[in-house]
Amino acid sequence: MRSPAVASGKIYCMRILISNDDGYLAPGINALAEALAPIAEIVVVAPDSNRSGASNSLSLDRPLSVQRAANGFYFVNGTPSDCVHVALTAILDYKPDLVVSGINNGPNMGDDTLYSGTVAAATEGFLFGIPAIAFSQGTYGWEHIDDAARHARDLIQRYYDTLPRPCLWNVNIPNRPYEQLNAVVATRLGRRHQSEPVIKAKDPRGKDIYWIGPPGACKEAGEGTDFHALAAGKTSITPLQIDLTHTSQLSALAKALA
Ligand code: MN
Repeated sequence: MRSPAVASGKIYCMRILISNDDGYLAPGINALAEALAPIAEIVVVAPDSNRSGASNSLSLDRPLSVQRAANGFYFVNGTPSDCVHVALTAILDYKPDLVVSGINNGPNMGDDTLYSGTVAAATEGFLFGIPAIAFSQGTYGWEHIDDAARHARDLIQRYYDTLPRPCLWNVNIPNRPYEQLNAVVATRLGRRHQSEPVIKAKDPRGKDIYWIGPPGACKEAGEGTDFHALAAGKTSITPLQIDLTHTSQLSALAKALA
């Protein structure tokens, strides 16, 4: 662990950057910041509004502005990836020990992780070589969010020193009271069926509009998957990687192109 940092008279052993995709006003990021404040020097840099589903997008077509809320949180008119990118390259004059994202309103499991802004914020930290963890609650609605945040702090305190470097964890926490958050399992991502089709409607001027439909039902949710863990009331931790290369197709393609 790095040498202690001193801020506002307190001595901390860790410096943690916190972001999310639900926006800087979301209960999840507030609960997380509150839970981590006693154990680390924290900086919060989050989108100014809900950017769920933003995935790993960076805003390249316009400048970003950073503002500071009364509680000290920074907020950015951009995506989760923008926030972490700006934090790491402009706001902070040091490399944090950990990037944490969430706690998201609702799950990020299986194929959802590809679209998730929560996972994307953590991924941005990971791409900068910093250990990164994305936290989500298994069910929408913020029930037991303070319990989830306390549990997230426990996981960081328990496992930070042993995390492989670099590492990117996708953590989903069931909506339960703290006392019932004791089972934690390592998982692989499950799979979903194809998404439901878009929902077609008319705007007030009679023009066709389309709402993106809900995700598909679980397809691979057996033992060992994140879906299976949450269904059993357990916290799921999936270690992620970013390399999208389909290694087993590579040699066949090379042969076909030769
Ligand atoms: Mn979200």
